[in-house]
Amino acid sequence: MRIAAVLAILGILTAPHFVSAFDVTLLNFIGIYALVAIGLTLLTGVGGLVSFGQAAFVGIGAYSTAWLTTVEGQSPWLGLAFAILLTCAVAAVLGAVTLRLKGHFLSLSTLAWGLAIGFCFGNIDGLGHFTGIADIPPIRVGSLALIGSGQIYYLIWAFVIAAVCLTHNLLDSRAGRAMRALRGGNLLVESLGVDAFRVRLTLFVIAAFLSALSGWLYAHLSRYVSPSPFDVGMGIEYLMMAMVGGAASPIGGVVGAALISILKNSIQDYLPLLAKGLSGQLEIVVFSVLFIIFLQRARDGVTPFIAKRLPKAKPISPAPAPPLAQRSQPTPGAPLLQVRNAERRFKGLIAVNQLSFDVAAGEIVALIGPNGAGKSTMFNLLTGALRLTSGSIIFNGREVRSISQCRIARAGVARTFQHVKLRPQMTVLDNVLLGAYGRLSSGVLAGALRLNRAEEARVRYEALRQLERVGLAERAFDLAGNLPLGEQRLLEIARALIADPILLVLDEPAAGLRRQEKQALAELMRSLRAERLTILLVEHDMDFVMNLADRVVVMEFGAKLSEGAPAQVRDDPRVQEAYLGGVA
Ligand code: ADP
Ligand code: MG
Repeated sequence: MRIAAVLAILGILTAPHFVSAFDVTLLNFIGIYALVAIGLTLLTGVGGLVSFGQAAFVGIGAYSTAWLTTVEGQSPWLGLAFAILLTCAVAAVLGAVTLRLKGHFLSLSTLAWGLAIGFCFGNIDGLGHFTGIADIPPIRVGSLALIGSGQIYYLIWAFVIAAVCLTHNLLDSRAGRAMRALRGGNLLVESLGVDAFRVRLTLFVIAAFLSALSGWLYAHLSRYVSPSPFDVGMGIEYLMMAMVGGAASPIGGVVGAALISILKNSIQDYLPLLAKGLSGQLEIVVFSVLFIIFLQRARDGVTPFIAKRLPKAKPISPAPAPPLAQRSQPTPGAPLLQVRNAERRFKGLIAVNQLSFDVAAGEIVALIGPNGAGKSTMFNLLTGALRLTSGSIIFNGREVRSISQCRIARAGVARTFQHVKLRPQMTVLDNVLLGAYGRLSSGVLAGALRLNRAEEARVRYEALRQLERVGLAERAFDLAGNLPLGEQRLLEIARALIADPILLVLDEPAAGLRRQEKQALAELMRSLRAERLTILLVEHDMDFVMNLADRVVVMEFGAKLSEGAPAQVRDDPRVQEAYLGGVA
């Protein structure tokens, strides 16, 4: 991998000496397109947000610098700052308005604003209407004006290489892991203390930032801007580049930009030989056919296809590092969770009905009851995944009924899910690292510039320790999706533990575990109790519950049927009746 990267960079540096002037110009455009496509790999490939509107951001960047340098006569470098500021500001506003939309609606909205912004370029006075802005000055570095295509080449590709390296670093950091976790729904991400909307907005602005860079370079390379290169058609082409190259990694953006540009060029060269006069329309047809073949045959793009065939660097097991700071746990026995008359209705159905119970710090409390009794719903209420219809839940002295899921998680509630929620395409280690989001502080910039090294070393070692605890250390570098279900549940527990929670909420943690694994899990719970952690769990295995829990709360039809020490509950005739008639 590393050798391939070095060779690629050497190739880029020496290319202008080997190829024709025409090809240098082509390479310049590839670099400019690549910047946009790199942004799209982040936005679409990583974040799952399909945008058809990136060309509009390129246009805002290009027009900003064109206007500032011609009409106002300022330096192109000031134009760069202006292009970035304006583009990112527009992206932030658009993102704030549209990023709460779901799935297709979000993509449709990118088409809408892509069209709207494209329309503005041709219709705002002062931007030259459809004839555009000409005579844009070249970029100057010291006394050197980057007029020739061989000169601006190095600037363009320096930006591209920097963008690939920085985004690559970013994806391997706290912020980047949160970005990679966005696909697959908000429920998990928010339960880890991540503000999903904010992460999405950040991704959106980063992609717009790269588009602005691209637009700035475009304006000073062409020395002329007009509306057409920034219309939605071009937006779709950018998306195609990212997908053909491989949207899962930034380098895919570069590969895709190169492939599509070269392909377009050769089609333009050869088609006229086949059909004179028709080449314009034929080009579109040939392109569409090729794209359909691509979608059928190689949906992940070219880069993963090649990467699979390159020798991989061996992953390095995290080395010992100083521990992360820990919260102080509340005094054992102090009231930690107070649920009062909690009620949750789903239309006609009352899933949780006037339920009240307490959990004291340091206890293991089991919530049991037949299927459909409302146990998972209760967990969703107290973790903020669902809102109470009425009633109150006080955690650690704070009413949480109107607090967001992500803030409840940050306050020290970590959970697992009855239906396991992982990111199967991420490694086991990365899945655990996701859980530490709230304990780390490095942001996007620190991640991109690798200023987070000390913190990363500490959290990686901590993640390995948590994996050791649940017996999964050997599998740290496997993909989480390749684990059997039982081990996926253990992985969820490791992910919850690394958050350094006060209250651990486990929804059927022993389901799917073998006997020995169950015993190991019970042992782990006991050692966690010894460390003063409080645990609330749902479990159907009565032996497991009776041997482990300090107290048991029994639910039926959303309401509390019984409560007390395990032996007491077991002997309760109402409980026996419910269980004889229901699940054992
Ligand atoms: P348990 O975990 O005890 O098996 P749940 O809390 O999952 O039970 O479900 C309790 C009841 O609420 C069930 O009847 C279930 O169908 C219903 N329910 C749970 N979630 C929803 C939802 N999001 N929408 C509608 N009904 C729901
Ligand atoms: Mg359940």
